[in-house]
Amino acid sequence: MKVTKSDFIISAVKPDQYPEDDLPEIALAGRSNVGKSSLINTLLNRKNLARTSQKPGKTQTLNFYLINEVLYFVDVPGYGFAKVSKKEREAWGKMIETYLANREDLRAVILIVDLRHSPSNDDVVMYDWLKHYEIPVIVVATKADKIPKGKWQKHLKVVRETLKVEPTDQLVVFSAQTGKGKEEVWSAIQSTI
Ligand code: GDP
Repeated sequence: MKVTKSDFIISAVKPDQYPEDDLPEIALAGRSNVGKSSLINTLLNRKNLARTSQKPGKTQTLNFYLINEVLYFVDVPGYGFAKVSKKEREAWGKMIETYLANREDLRAVILIVDLRHSPSNDDVVMYDWLKHYEIPVIVVATKADKIPKGKWQKHLKVVRETLKVEPTDQLVVFSAQTGKGKEEVWSAIQSTI
């Protein structure tokens, strides 16, 4: 997709704050620091629309970005921060579950993992949970520029096998640094909306 317009619309914590125009939504999830904001900025050709490296302890919200007036990206706060309290984690879980399990406009979730490492237990739990709700997932393995191209397939296999990625879900090698995989992610998105 050629992105000509992208705007931050709203930070929501509960359903009555979600947009009401019924456009398709793509949610983006991943552990903190995985490169989610960088992925969003790359896909939208923006330098800093989604703020990179947000520190924990800030209000955890679902951030809605409207793209070309035809779809929303929904930035889900990152998981897996050890410093977050149990109470905060529970609030996060409730907010995410309410959105992901019930939102009719949701077409797919982009689950971002680090191509260099085996997916974490949190990543596996998130993927399983999304599959339990039968939500299509696009797995984006990012930071590909940090390992030699010759090793991508080997690392991709570890990601596929650890998450047990279903054959109907797409798996894309990506780098925000080089733009590698950008078009592939967009075609994966377009096949779901
Ligand atoms: P978020 O917390 O998931 O939103 O992660 P950020 O987008 O803020 O990225 C976390 C860190 O990883 C930052 O220092 C980014 O510059 C870096 N980063 C993100 N994506 C890439 C990538 O594709 N390649 C490299 N080399 N660094 C990346």
